[in-house]
Amino acid sequence: MATLSLKSIASSCLGASPSFSVKRDVYGYIWGPIDRRLSLRSHLQLIKDDAFNLCIFLVGHEPGFAGWWSQSEAQSMQLAIDVMRNVYAQTGVGVRRLFWRYIDTNEAAGFWSVDAGEATDLTEAFTGPNNGIDVFFVKNVSDAGGWSNSSGPCDKDEKGERTGAVLELRSDDCTVGTNLCTGILLAHEVGHYLTLKHESVITNVMGEDADGNGIGSIDNTSLNLDNDQSAKMKKSCFIRPSC
Ligand SMILES: [Zn+2]
Repeated sequence: MATLSLKSIASSCLGASPSFSVKRDVYGYIWGPIDRRLSLRSHLQLIKDDAFNLCIFLVGHEPGFAGWWSQSEAQSMQLAIDVMRNVYAQTGVGVRRLFWRYIDTNEAAGFWSVDAGEATDLTEAFTGPNNGIDVFFVKNVSDAGGWSNSSGPCDKDEKGERTGAVLELRSDDCTVGTNLCTGILLAHEVGHYLTLKHESVITNVMGEDADGNGIGSIDNTSLNLDNDQSAKMKKSCFIRPSC
């Protein structure tokens, strides 16, 4: 059985050379301390095989947190990503690289609060490195918790399409601070991008849409993904080759 070497996986999967920081360069958590237990061995295993990259935009950020976001909110985003990584771990799908980007407050004007149509406009106006799924954190989503595209286009420059997931940081308390909710919401929206549709059980990450209005419901128990969903995710064009 192959052993997992931190040094070789960091180099072949992440392009990190010696003297890297595990938290910053292997996990991509650049915003300061993270209050969660990290399992390096399982993380290395997951990012090596069926895995995808994320390009995360802070909409309305300025260096030194002089824009719309505070450092603690940025830390909540990385915590949410860690929750999502844990949720996806049950499917054997890893979140390999995090490309952090920001849109300054001038350019972000009009996108402080977005609805479904503005979410599409936002993803049309800004695009990250093409091999990652774009995720935009906005201060408020006015007509849902987030928006994505059921089966997101592989080419993020595609016109007339929502080419990313757009979501807000949740402020409701879901048993483990606020970030379990944001993490589940993130897993849900990215799940859509990776071709998953709403389910009919609230305990599934993809939740239920009881009234059929296209807006799914999730809560702090929406943590499960099944084998079928795992197989679908692994067929997405965003899954990177093994490294
Ligand atoms: Zn949904």
